[in-house]
Amino acid sequence: MKSIQPQNASLIDDLAGSISESLAPIVYGPGSAIFREQDLGGHAYIIERGQVKITQDAGTDQKVIAILGPGELLGEMSPIDNERRSATATAITETEIIPIGTGQLQEIVENSDPLIQLLLRVLIERLRNTRPENERTTGGIRLLDDEMKSRSLETVRGRALNQLKAEKELRDAFSRREFDLYFQPIVRLSDYRLAGFEGLIRWLSPERGVIGPNDFIGLAEETGLIVPIGLWVLEHACYMLKRFQAIRDRDFPDEEPLFMSANVSARQLRNLDSVDTIIATIRKTGVDPTAIKIEITEGLLIADPEIAITAINRLKALGVTIALDDFGTGYSSLSYLHRFPLDTLKIDRSFVMSMLKNRESMTVIRTITRLARDLKLSCVSEGIEDPRELTTLKDFGCDYGQGYLFARPLPEREVHEILSRDRLWAPNRPPATAEPQASE
Ligand code: C2E
Ligand code: CA
Ligand code: CA
Repeated sequence: MKSIQPQNASLIDDLAGSISESLAPIVYGPGSAIFREQDLGGHAYIIERGQVKITQDAGTDQKVIAILGPGELLGEMSPIDNERRSATATAITETEIIPIGTGQLQEIVENSDPLIQLLLRVLIERLRNTRPENERTTGGIRLLDDEMKSRSLETVRGRALNQLKAEKELRDAFSRREFDLYFQPIVRLSDYRLAGFEGLIRWLSPERGVIGPNDFIGLAEETGLIVPIGLWVLEHACYMLKRFQAIRDRDFPDEEPLFMSANVSARQLRNLDSVDTIIATIRKTGVDPTAIKIEITEGLLIADPEIAITAINRLKALGVTIALDDFGTGYSSLSYLHRFPLDTLKIDRSFVMSMLKNRESMTVIRTITRLARDLKLSCVSEGIEDPRELTTLKDFGCDYGQGYLFARPLPEREVHEILSRDRLWAPNRPPATAEPQASE
């Protein structure tokens, strides 16, 4: 990855190693066994090409219970319940299969609704207890085979396969260091000076160009990849901030130090070990933690308030500040706000976008800015594109603003030009955006 810092390299290697349960396809020649009955568990597989015979020991000979082809799943039970294989899988023709990491499967199962987990285990147990001798209820694999003929399952399977492929791409992108961080300036509305940045991840795909986070963060969250990716974001953001601060400080020694906001997903704060890893990562970079702002969303606070409070308190003990992102879009029970030791509210872009046309949006914004003031929190508005939005937000007392009016998220090399500017905007002058289109 091109803008990565040398000091980040070891972290990347560690992380890439820890997540790279390889999904490289394996080829089996005709007649070779993929796994045997009574083997200890292991991977599940998806057939990319070829044919596989599933058999079970039936006294003197082997009873064939299913023939599987491309796109079909096999060996899925053992990695879920850790029992021995209940059947043998043999390649009929030359067959290419993709292993699905045990960790991945377990992660998915463990993160699913507990009722689903229970159902899965009960079902698997029942399937395992039915032997092929019993004509009416054959083994689970046969059952699956029958059902696979139905259209709906076909689509479910197709989706699962696509998801697996997308996940593999994402893992590969991470280990190939194809992620980069862009920086969007955050401006102090009282004087239009640069106050800080929000680090926003980009995937620089050699095939597809610059890919925005909306196209991959969801998958990263579902698969747990967000944890190592988020850690990389944080580390990179800290190192970059140190660099930006040094440059800014040279040109504008009297100004407050710049801050850096980084998005941290709920998944990264759900257990205290990963909170401690976040803390260790920030410490390691030597950045002043009080200049780091961690952006979280309402979802975390609502889903598990106790864990959220503990996680936030640990982070705050280090000195970092906490912003509530996308404020107003979620469950928005204002009553919970005071329970959390927050520092900043971020007004969601959707309200700013519609504020000039829509009275309700205007009211929401006025309410949020007032709330921030009453709770002694600072307030940042996202998505400012129009000078009239800016003026209104300023009148309402919003402290900071971010949006295309000032600048788009910029790659590191374009940040330097911003750092040397006195102000990022001036009334009655055309908006001073930095090479907007070129950057995204
Ligand atoms: P967000 O945290 O709400 O980030 C603000 C988004 O609004 C960014 O989109 C930014 O490019 C966009 N934006 C800023 N100003 C304007 C404007 O004036 N007009 C318009 N139309 N858009 C504007 P981006 O970079 O595509 O990020 C989308 C979302 O992806 C972020 O929303 C955040 O939720 C997530 N994300 C980005 N980076 C990370 C990351 O490192 N970790 C995690 N967990 N999530 C991230
Ligand atoms: Ca954000
Ligand atoms: Ca936001």
